[in-house]
Amino acid sequence: MNYAVILAGGKGIRFGSGNVPKQFVELTGMPMLVYSMKTAQANPNIHEICVVALEAYIPQIREWAGSYGITKLKYIAKSGEERSDSVYSGICAIPAGSSDTVMIMTSVCPLLSQETIDRHYKYIKKYDGVITVVKATDAITFSDGGEQADRTLQKKKLFVQQGPQTYQYGVLKEAHERYRNGREKKEVYEDSELVLDLGVPIAMVQGDRFCIKVTYPEDLAIARALYPLFCEKENRRGIAYE
Ligand code: C5P
Repeated sequence: MNYAVILAGGKGIRFGSGNVPKQFVELTGMPMLVYSMKTAQANPNIHEICVVALEAYIPQIREWAGSYGITKLKYIAKSGEERSDSVYSGICAIPAGSSDTVMIMTSVCPLLSQETIDRHYKYIKKYDGVITVVKATDAITFSDGGEQADRTLQKKKLFVQQGPQTYQYGVLKEAHERYRNGREKKEVYEDSELVLDLGVPIAMVQGDRFCIKVTYPEDLAIARALYPLFCEKENRRGIAYE
């Protein structure tokens, strides 16, 4: 069984949308979370969906699932303080076993293509973990203190990570449990870091530049501008977003 866990538990404080977390702000007529749910619903590789959210939004999410035909939504889990707590809550809420897979999606990347998801399901047959990347086009400089540049990294070996990430369920659960048992030692944001710490190889599949992550208000403006082109591309696959 292939599960998708959609993270929607962020508070969106960098976004400035008042009390509404950014994943519930509308892109073009639907809250951003609904685009992610529709994308997972439309992909035949994904069998069941779990959304992770703040408790106060759970009734609203059930209502959206009903009105937008998200029949694969079977589980809703309560989000945690940090992203990794929300992932753990989601993976504990699904009845998966070690031979199942879990795709971790965010609710703030509404322009995720079906092709990217299909690539994940091709590679998860060969690898225990798959992440989505695009080649870095900007130079990236590392700075420990944030004021002085310590090192400018070699662009041609750098990749920007996008969502989603897919793992064999047992591997992801073990990686999170190991982190939670000793978590005071380091701060971790990405699941891939935890899985790599286990020594498990992770495949990289190509994402695309439509799939921008909405973090700041200007990202929403870019996503809205790209939306018609994205629909044109996806509608060739027979998926309607309106
Ligand atoms: O903070 P950032 O924008 O990177 O969040 C990525 C995703 O993780 C978003 O979909 C957000 O709602 C989710 N998240 C969560 N629980 C948290 C923090 C973030 O589900 N505690």
